[in-house]
Amino acid sequence: MTDYNLFSKAPDGDLYTKWEDYKKNLKTLSPEEANKYKVIVIGTGLAGASASATLAEQGFNVHAFSFHESPRRAHSIAAQGGINAAKNYKGDGDSIMRLFYDTIKGGDFRSREDNVYRLAEISKNIIDQCVAQGVPFAREYGGLLDNRSFGGVQVSRTFYARGQTGQQLLLGAYSALSRQLEKKKVIFYPRHDMLDVVLVDGKAKGIVTRNLINGEIKTHSADIVILATGGYSNVYYLSTNAMASNVTANWRAHRKGALFANPSFTQIHPTCIPVKNDFQSKLTLMSESLRNDGRVWVPKKKNDQRKPIDIPEEERDYYLERIYPAFGNLVPRDVASRRAKEVCDEGRGIGPTGFAVYLDFQKAIEEKGEDFIREKYGNLFDMYQNITDENPYKTPMKIYPAVHYTMGGLWVDYNLMTTIEGLFSIGESNFSDHGANRLGASALMQGLADGYFVIPHTAMDFLAKETPLTKDITERREFKEAEEKTKNEIAKLMKVDGKLAVDEVHKRARKDSLG
Ligand SMILES: Cc1cc2nc3c(=O)[nH]c(=O)nc-3n(C[C@H](O)[C@H](O)[C@H](O)COP(=O)(O)OP(=O)(O)OC[C@H]3O[C@@H](n4cnc5c(N)ncnc54)[C@H](O)[C@@H]3O)c2cc1C
Repeated sequence: MTDYNLFSKAPDGDLYTKWEDYKKNLKTLSPEEANKYKVIVIGTGLAGASASATLAEQGFNVHAFSFHESPRRAHSIAAQGGINAAKNYKGDGDSIMRLFYDTIKGGDFRSREDNVYRLAEISKNIIDQCVAQGVPFAREYGGLLDNRSFGGVQVSRTFYARGQTGQQLLLGAYSALSRQLEKKKVIFYPRHDMLDVVLVDGKAKGIVTRNLINGEIKTHSADIVILATGGYSNVYYLSTNAMASNVTANWRAHRKGALFANPSFTQIHPTCIPVKNDFQSKLTLMSESLRNDGRVWVPKKKNDQRKPIDIPEEERDYYLERIYPAFGNLVPRDVASRRAKEVCDEGRGIGPTGFAVYLDFQKAIEEKGEDFIREKYGNLFDMYQNITDENPYKTPMKIYPAVHYTMGGLWVDYNLMTTIEGLFSIGESNFSDHGANRLGASALMQGLADGYFVIPHTAMDFLAKETPLTKDITERREFKEAEEKTKNEIAKLMKVDGKLAVDEVHKRARKDSLG
C-alpha cells in the first residue's frame, strides 16, 4: 500500500499572524511570467468562478470547464440564506476570534484550526470584494449593510440578499469572470464533463473531458488542475442539492490517488420540506434564516391529529427553546436535526407521515407585522406555498431534516493542494474547514475565500517553482492512455444493455442501503 504523508504544511508560528506571515514568503510571478502558465479549473460555481477570474487577473491562462451551459447555472445559485463575515457591523461583539471559535466549536472540534482562522480573517475581505462588484446585499433603512443570525452563533454576522444570496454572489463572480473571458485570459468550455485527471511523473498535468453536446472525448494539458466541483450529497439520492451535482470529478481524482477525507461527515439540514412520496427525486431547503423569526414546535401529546391552530400554547412543546435557552431556535444544524428526529421517533411528529415538525411564524407576525416578514422572507414563503399549497402566513410550515452539505471531500493541505501534486481542490469539493458540522452561511464564505483569496497565492507559489509546459503535451503516452481508458469504460457501460434508467438504479440502491 502507498504511504501518504498527510502533513498539513501549515506554517509554524502565531495563529493570529500566520497567514499574513506565510503570504510574505510565498513566491510571486509578474503578469508577464504568469502568462507562460496554463491553469485548468473544473467547475465555475462560486469557488471555481472566483478562482478563475482572480488567477486570470494575475496573468495566468485559465481554461475553465463546467458541465453546465453557463457558470450561472452552478449549484451555488441555490444558496438562499447568506454569507458570514466578522465585520461586527451590528456592534454586538463579533470579531475574527469569535467567528473562528464558533466555526471550530460548531464543527465539533474536527476542523483544522489554521485554515479556520485564515477563513475568519478573510471573511471581511469577501464582503468588501462583493460590495465593490455591486452585489446587492440587504441594507438597513439608513443604507448600512444589514445582518441576520444563523445557527450556532449569538451574534448577527450573516450578510444576505433576501433569499437569493448565492445567486447574487454568483452574478458578482460571473461578472469578474466575464471580464476575463472578454480579455481571452479565460477560455470557458461549457457542457464539458471531466472524466479523468491525467498524471505525468506523479503530477496533475491535465484532464480527459467529454463534450456533452457531441460526445467527443478529448484531453487537455496544463501546468496545474484545480477542482471546484462541489459536494456529493446526491449520493444519498434525496438531498437538497441540484440534481446535476455529482461527485464524479472527485471520484476520478480519488481513483488517481487523491485521498478523500471525512466522507461520512454529511450535514443533515433541519429545515427542509418533508418527503411527500416515492416519486420525488429531490428535497427543497427552507433557509435556516427562517429560524431567526420562526419557532420550532411539536404537540406535547403523541399522535396529536389536531390542526396546529387548535392546539393551545400550553399543549405545544417549543423543544429547542426549552432545551437550549441560550441559542433557542438558532442551535447548530446537527443539533436541531437530531432533536427533530428524536421528537418524531417519540411519536410526536406531525403531518401525514409523522416525520415533520412545525416552523411557526405566528408570534413574529403578531409582533412585527406580516409586511416585515414578507419583506425579509417573501420569496421563501412563496416557494413554500408553491410546493405545498399551504399559506405559511396563516399556518405553520412543516419541516424535517434532509441531507444538504458534505463537509467531507478531497483532503487538502494548507495550500489547498490534494495528495496529488499540482491537483488542488477548493470550495465544497475539499474537506478543509468545517469539521464534522458546517455552520449556516459558512459555505459561501469558504468557497469565495478559497477562490478569491487563498488559491491565487498558493497556486502562484506552486507554479513559480515549476517550469512552464509552454506547449500542449496531449500527444504524450499518459494522455493517450487516459483517453483510451475512458473510451473503453464508456463502451463497456454502453454494452450493459440494462433495462433500468441510471436514476432508478440509484433510487433502489438508496432504499437497499436504508434496509
Ligand atoms: C439549497 C441550498 C441552499 C444553500 N444555502 C446556503 C447559504 O445560504 N449559505 C451558505 O454559505 N451555503 C449555502 N449552501 C451551500 C453552498 O451553496 C454550496 O456549498 C456552495 O455553493 C458550493 O459552491 P462550489 O463552487 O464549491 O460548488 P458548485 O456551486 O456546486 O459548483 C460546482 C461546479 O462544478 C462543475 N462540475 C462538477 N462536476 C463536474 C465535472 N465532472 N465536469 C465538469 N464540471 C463539473 C459544475 O458544473 C459547477 O460549475 C446551500 C446549499 C444548498 C443545497
